[in-house]
Order: sequence, then structure tokens, then C-alpha cells
Amino acid sequence: MTAAAPGRPKQGTAPSGSVGALNIKLGCIADDFTGATDLANNLVRAGMRVVQTIGVPTRPLGAEVDAVVVALKSRTVAPAEAVRQSLAALEWLQAQGAQQIYFKYCSTFDSTATGNIGPVTEALMDALGVDFTIATPAFPDNKRTVFKGYLFVGDVLLNESGMQNHPLTPMTDPNLVRVMQSQSRRKVGLIDHQVVAQGEAVIRERIQQLRADGVGVAVVDAVSNDDLLRMGPALKDMRLLTAGSGVAIGLPANFGLLPSSQAGQLPPASGLQAVVSGSCSLATLRQVADFLRTGRPAFVVDALRLAAGDDVVAEALAWAAALLSGGPVLVYSTAETQTIKSVQGLLGAEDAGLLVERCMANIARGLVRLGVRQLVVAGGETSGACVQALGIMQMQMGPQIDPGVPWCHAVSELAPDGLHLTLKSGNFGSDDFFSKAFTVLSSERPR
Ligand code: ADP
Repeated sequence: MTAAAPGRPKQGTAPSGSVGALNIKLGCIADDFTGATDLANNLVRAGMRVVQTIGVPTRPLGAEVDAVVVALKSRTVAPAEAVRQSLAALEWLQAQGAQQIYFKYCSTFDSTATGNIGPVTEALMDALGVDFTIATPAFPDNKRTVFKGYLFVGDVLLNESGMQNHPLTPMTDPNLVRVMQSQSRRKVGLIDHQVVAQGEAVIRERIQQLRADGVGVAVVDAVSNDDLLRMGPALKDMRLLTAGSGVAIGLPANFGLLPSSQAGQLPPASGLQAVVSGSCSLATLRQVADFLRTGRPAFVVDALRLAAGDDVVAEALAWAAALLSGGPVLVYSTAETQTIKSVQGLLGAEDAGLLVERCMANIARGLVRLGVRQLVVAGGETSGACVQALGIMQMQMGPQIDPGVPWCHAVSELAPDGLHLTLKSGNFGSDDFFSKAFTVLSSERPR
């Protein structure tokens, strides 16, 4: 391991092929899609102009921004694959001049017994030649706090929060020093709350002490945004950070950036409006019900008819074509458990999910062809499918509609003039989200 001082940020080296690349301040690697959006949203709110890319771009960045979040799908893949993807992202971010690298994972520290937080962190440390970094999923705004190295979700420890039963990443130990140590070759330590409470100088002292003791990764306590903001200045020179999205709120100030509505400014919105909902989460069920109550037009995608081979996509688009000029329309497969079970019984849960995702993605594509330029998509997997079908490679992050859900702007072959879209993960957003989203966008005036 190279024992380079974490002290001075060094400029990334731009390979000769990326002449003209614009230098970014913060380069972020997120281990999943909605997690990337969550981080980007926090950075925008703290004053950075941010672009999120879908996977590792193949070309240099074409926009002048302060931060880029590369969204990977590496949380639950084999550790070697997660490392491969993350190093590819790092290389691209360095080529864009990233001064600091931020590895973003879930605020419940979602990991398997062998990774991927530890292996990816260490691979990034090796690649960057640093001997020390931090690890903290603390995100007090979302009720994730770390105290004495123990992670709380709301009022309970991580292993009592339901996460102990997660199908892919069961979290049975709330002590993050132990969890991180079990995935890491380097020694893992703790910067506890008493240190964080005393601010930058004392945090820096503790870091030096831990490094002298041979600690390579330190879990950091934070129970409030004040803790995160106190932590920020002490992280200024750290080449690599690993965290949930909370730590992001204290970073833009290190680059001389202050919260400003300019950071989230998008091109003015125009065009037709639509909502595509493939989420069956409780919050989305309430949002669909609320939209129906307003009397606005809605088309239900019946998964059983899809399974029977009916051309539901063509039907939905013919229906929408006649109505779009009158205001937002909703196309939804959102259904109660009973309805979902009947198609799952027929096709199996995975195939049923894929069938519906493909249908919703084709509908989203068709809607954009019909002139929709303000699109709300509900559902994490559904969003992934829609973004792919729309050929979107990167999105500029805009103003927040509800916590964790911003408007974005993207350009694609289907919408060369640009498209506003928001990707809502299932349980996010207020009941009136499907109407509120458009109101928020129309109230954004160019400044
Ligand atoms: P969330 O963010 O709420 O988890 P996702 O889009 O990630 O939403 O996941 C919802 C999954 O359920 C998707 O795979 C989607 O295709 C599937 N789905 C949606 N509607 C139905 C339905 N009526 N029957 C069966 N599966 C459905």
C-alpha cells in the first residue's frame, strides 16, 4: 500500500483522448441508481451544479458542472465485479479532473458478507494511493444516525429496523466498525461523537492519531446535520471519501460554494406532461389514488392482459394521444398485492416484473414521441427501464420536489431538444406528488 498523504488534492490526469474535458471538483461513484440521485440532490441543495450519468460514460463530460455522480449497479454483484465497475468510474472521473472522489453507498450500509463496501473502498484507496479514508452512512435528514459506531434507523438499531430481513443484504450487526472490519484488509477505527462535536481541528488531530496507529478506514459518528457540517472542513484535503449521501451537505463549502437556487437551475420546461407509474409501493398507491381523485385522465395497464399478449402499449398511446393536450395524464400498472399476485402466479414474480417494466418503458418512449417533455416516472426498477428505453446517458440535476426526488433534465436522440424528468423511488413523495411535481416545475423561472 502506498502511504501517500491524504493531504493535498492532486489533479486527475487527463488522458490524451479527453482533450477539452472540463475539470470537475467532486467525482462521485454511487453503488445504485436511486442512491446516486439522492446524493446528487444533496449536492445541488448545498450549492453544486451536478450531472448524474447512467453507468460509466464512454466520452468526456460535455457540460460545465461542479460534480458528477456516476450511477452504477454494483451493490449486490460479486465483489470483483463491483471493484471493476468502480475503478472504471474512478478512471473516467479522474480524466474529468475530479479533485476529490466520493464513494456513495446506502444509508443503511447495505452490504453482503463479503462486500461490497469494504472491497470497493480498498480498491479505490489503492488506485488513488491514499492510506486513510472515512466511512459513514449517517443521513440525519432521513433518520440515519451513527453513535459510537452504531447505526440507528429512526429510533432503533440497524439490526432491529427490518434490514435484518433484507432479501439481498441482511444487516444483522449494527456496529459499523465490526461490519467494515469484516470486509476490509485494513484496520478499521472510529472517530466518535465527542471528537466530531469539537470540530475541525480536533477531528484532524484524531485522524492523524488513527493513521499513526495504522488505521486505514475510520467510521465517523454523526447524529445531526450540525455534525456533518462540522465534519465537512476536516475532509477538505481527503482525496477519497466513502459515505451515504449525508456527508455531501458539508462538502460544497470546501470549494467555496454556498447553497443557491442557481445550482439546481434547469432549462425552462415546455411540452406535454405525463406520469408513468410502475411502482406498487404504498406511497405510490396513495399518489395514484390522489391523482384519480383530481379527475385527471388515467389509463390502467392490466398485467394479466399483457401476459395474454394484448398490445397494451399501442392502446395506452392511442388513448394518451387524444388527451395529452388537455394536461397531465397518468399511465399506471400500480396495483394492490392481490392483483399483483394473480399475474405473478401465472408468470413468476421476476418475469411478471420484467414484462410490466418493458411495457411501461415502451409507453414512456411512445409518450416522448408524442411530444411529452415533462415526465414523472414512479418506481426504482421502472425508472431504470424507462431511462434505458429513452436512451438517456446523463441527467442534469435540478430543484427538489420532495426529499430525495429532484427534477432532472436530459437530452437524448428521442428528445434532442431536451426533456424534463423526475424518477421517484417507490416510497418517496407526498400523496399529491403527481400533481405537485408539475406545479414545482412550472414555478421554476429562469433567473
Ligand atoms: P418501487 O420503487 O416501488 O420498488 P419498482 O419499479 O422498483 O418500484 O418495482 C416495482 C416492480 O413491480 C417492477 O418490476 C414492476 O414492473 C412490477 N410491477 C408493477 N406493476 C405490476 C403489476 N400490476 N403486476 C406485477 N408486477 C408489477
